[in-house]
Amino acid sequence: MMTASLATVSYIGATILFILSLGGLSHPESSRRGNLYGMIGMTIAVLATVFGPRVTMAGIPWIIGAMVVGAAVGLYAAKKVQMTQMPELVALMHSLVGLAACLVGYANYIDTSIQLEGAEKAIHEMEIYIGILIGAVTFSGSVIAFGKLSGKIGGKPLLLPGRHLLNLAGLLIVIWFAGSFLHAESINDGMLPLIVMTVIALLFGIHMVMAIGGADMPVVVSMLNSYSGWAAAATGFMLNNDLLIVTGALVGSSGAILSYIMCRAMNRNFISVIAGGFGTGGGTPAAASGDAQPAGEVVSISAAETAELLREAKNVIIVPGYGMAVAQAQHTVYEITQLLREKGVNVRFGIHPVAGRMPGHMNVLLAEAKVPYDIVMEMDELNEDFPDTDVSMVIGANDIVNPAAQDDPGSPIAGMPVLEVWKARTSIVMKRSMASGYAGVDNPLFYKENNRMLFGDAKKMLEEVFVALKA
Ligand code: NDP
Repeated sequence: MMTASLATVSYIGATILFILSLGGLSHPESSRRGNLYGMIGMTIAVLATVFGPRVTMAGIPWIIGAMVVGAAVGLYAAKKVQMTQMPELVALMHSLVGLAACLVGYANYIDTSIQLEGAEKAIHEMEIYIGILIGAVTFSGSVIAFGKLSGKIGGKPLLLPGRHLLNLAGLLIVIWFAGSFLHAESINDGMLPLIVMTVIALLFGIHMVMAIGGADMPVVVSMLNSYSGWAAAATGFMLNNDLLIVTGALVGSSGAILSYIMCRAMNRNFISVIAGGFGTGGGTPAAASGDAQPAGEVVSISAAETAELLREAKNVIIVPGYGMAVAQAQHTVYEITQLLREKGVNVRFGIHPVAGRMPGHMNVLLAEAKVPYDIVMEMDELNEDFPDTDVSMVIGANDIVNPAAQDDPGSPIAGMPVLEVWKARTSIVMKRSMASGYAGVDNPLFYKENNRMLFGDAKKMLEEVFVALKA
């Protein structure tokens, strides 16, 4: 078993590794190293906790048993889950952090071995109350996010009448019950306010995420990521575990920064997204905008014609989206890119901050296919270059290239910055049908004069384009 000072030193080492890990993850080239630091840090943290001074010998078999069960479930999930289901899995994992915070909170409250008096008792109870509050919101919010991301719950926002008032009333009740919880004479007396608060927090989590419109889900997912960090930090306070507090705070604050960056990228107001109902923002809900069918004709194109256009082009910008992930077309995309570059065509990739279904989704896929980082650009870096581009090729993307975000103030995605692919001489959209994307809105791009549709599965069509290009 470890001494207390060795455990503390190990905790400090793990904390430093976690900070280095976050630093590494901020850039694709250093992300592998970042992951490695994180894994080493977590191994040290787990070993220092399990063999540290606060675990008795009798407890170790229990912990190892739980770890074996947890690891088996984790291994099975990691092997089985598809890359496109990753965001749902992450949402589900956030919900577990929330649930753990709730359970630890209740266990701590009924634990009669913790004997505290006066201010210390009040602080400890406050930690429990806030910990369960954050945990319950994270738990129910993440479960609903899981449902929305996996398509089990519809993407349309649920807008209850007077929803802001409902939220406010919930908050006031939670504050009022905090008073009666802190003044409770016995554990039995304190249980009722604790349970009422938990129920309200669970309802608030459900309401918050149900009220979010399709295209704003990315912000909510990163916000729940942040909440899960704060829930872990709260658990750390309840258990008096410094490492859990620090790790939770790191996750909480980096998630909050990511949410803020996402909000900026989507041109959304942070507070409005948290208050819910965004993604409809005074605009027409997706289903109601059917009467505003975009005008124009849809012109389709064959793979051979696409290859011809690419062969004649000098500048090409490829915009990947969720459909590329579904089709697993990234390797074929890279083969085409290599071929075009050998022929002297300037090929670049344009990445929208919310392309796909999780932050950095496209970067991960392109890195997996070994696309060089220097031709993968952020939206802001190349949006101005579309007018000088011969062909913009959209692969399974939809919402992120929708001109309605700029032209139609009534659109649910109005104000969201998009990649202006229609400004290229020709834009080619590869998708299977005229179906809408995640936000459920029509896309006027498909009807533009200089746009061509290459209908079919992205991978299959790209393979045909590749064969035609090589011929
Ligand atoms: P979209 O969901 O807007 O569009 C994807 C398109 O891909 C669909 O219209 C679909 O059309 C097409 N597609 C699906 N499968 C295939 C296939 N096998 N081959 C070819 N095409 C295919 O994706 P975008 O990437 O453009 O935008 C992301 C959206 O997801 C945004 O609304 C964003 O807000 C939201 N979101 C993003 C998150 C993030 O963190 N990045 C998280 C949660 C939501 P068809 O069916 O006709 O083939």
